[in-house]
Amino acid sequence: MSTVSATLRAATQRLAQAGIPDAATDARSLLAHALGVPRSRLTLLGPEAVTRAQVEAFEALIAGRLERRPVSQLVGRRSFWGREFLVTSDVLDPRPETEDLVARALEHPFGRVLDLGTGSGCILLTLLAERPEAQGVGVDASPAALAVARRNAEALGVQARAELLCSDWFAQVSGRFDLIVSNPPYITEDEMAALSPEVALHEPRMALTPGGDGLAAYRVICAQAGAFLRPGAPLLFEIGHAQGAAVAQIMEDAGFAGVAVLPDLSGKDRNVIGRWCG
Ligand code: GLN
Repeated sequence: MSTVSATLRAATQRLAQAGIPDAATDARSLLAHALGVPRSRLTLLGPEAVTRAQVEAFEALIAGRLERRPVSQLVGRRSFWGREFLVTSDVLDPRPETEDLVARALEHPFGRVLDLGTGSGCILLTLLAERPEAQGVGVDASPAALAVARRNAEALGVQARAELLCSDWFAQVSGRFDLIVSNPPYITEDEMAALSPEVALHEPRMALTPGGDGLAAYRVICAQAGAFLRPGAPLLFEIGHAQGAAVAQIMEDAGFAGVAVLPDLSGKDRNVIGRWCG
């Protein structure tokens, strides 16, 4: 019979030998999940024996990690803006940098918000949770992603205010909005080759890249967004750090005014915003 600490040490070594970055952190997260305890309790549980069922559950998680499955998919959740979101291989793993888009969006008043490419729903559902009077529409072209977003909406208790639609961008959308947000697929064809195996093998390709120069989604959205925005209402994007000038130009050409490229805390371009003045 092995102990918690010996089990953790052995697994950490296996992950490290397989070249998994952050082997110790990942092993701790996965063992805590297998034992059904918070990570912070592992140390005090160190001398305790692990049961056969716990070892089997942990082994399955370690096997998944050795296949480079992301920890968030193995444990089935990711924290975003202080709330837990269900995460599966059908959705983009909510990224900390996407919290910038939420922060920028919350600078504006909105009663009705549209999220294009909602994925897990992390952006839309956070905005609705933060603004209890607001209503929202989230669209995604993937029915499997929408199923995840629906479960997240229920878990956050905002399902009555969140309409989740299967739609190719605006195709199934109607009405006008006070705010449109999107973190569309923007990775370029060339950058795709440099992704970690966790992302390249296990996150949905359609959520990551539109192919080519990575700008196709911005072009399609900007060309159509005016018909869905109230006069003066903002369109707010997340972008790749090298795409600021290109996306700002696309927005201006489409008739947006006051277009601004907004940096993140490290100074990298991260969001672009413009107001519909058409
Ligand atoms: N809106 C989701 C997110 O920001 C999904 C985005 C996407 O799939 N490109 O995480």
